[in-house]
Amino acid sequence: MERSLADIEYNYKYINEKIAEAAIRSGRKREDITFLSATKTVEPEYINYAISLGLDHIGENRVQELLSKYDEYNLDNCSLQFIGHLQSNKVRQIVGKVDLIQSVDSVKLASEISRVSTNKNLTTDVLIEVNIGGEENKSGVSPQNLENLIEQIIDLPSINIKGLMTIPPICDNSDKIRKYFYDMRNIFLDISAKNIDNVSMDILSMGMSSDYYEAILEGANMVRIGSALFGNRVYK
Ligand SMILES: *Cc1c(COP(=O)(O)O)cnc(C)c1O
Repeated sequence: MERSLADIEYNYKYINEKIAEAAIRSGRKREDITFLSATKTVEPEYINYAISLGLDHIGENRVQELLSKYDEYNLDNCSLQFIGHLQSNKVRQIVGKVDLIQSVDSVKLASEISRVSTNKNLTTDVLIEVNIGGEENKSGVSPQNLENLIEQIIDLPSINIKGLMTIPPICDNSDKIRKYFYDMRNIFLDISAKNIDNVSMDILSMGMSSDYYEAILEGANMVRIGSALFGNRVYK
């Protein structure tokens, strides 16, 4: 598929307007919401074009793909994040390259991020991924085990918890999806209210191309948008 720069520019403006509208409807401002683009399968020239329009957060979800594109991203004014499922044995390949790992869901993974970060003399910010729909084959910690996982991670050196991320189940209507976002928001607020040392609940990352508007209405302050910006994905 040929991507068109004109389409990307149009989509970029449209999404920003929608984000602003949803922000205002939920009592916030456009600046309160982070627009991260999920850039899997998108060639760096198009990613860089979106960055030139003002996009300032991108996320990849495969380590190999991130590494193969890494030298070509124009990251001077853009944060690069990891948003996909991460295997412990690949952690050392991305620590130091990404500003945030959104998908921590086990002590094993967190321990490896901590170990590698300590070795490299840096600190890595992470989100905890929550499996809000309790789906069997999906990444993420269950809501029931979330607090316990956080308690185990906070004592590890060189890793900081900055918030929560979720990918809800595919839903056939907007009320259902909103309920998952609503539940996530409550979990986020519960954890915030506990004021756990070394945990800052700054980021609530939820909402994708088909549901970012609803996610913002329910309290997301970061949305991850791929196809609505760059067009449908073509897997080679
Ligand atoms: C691909 C991806 C997205 C964006 O998906 P779209 O439906 O194309 O917006 C968001 N989050 C994660 C973790 C992804 O892998």
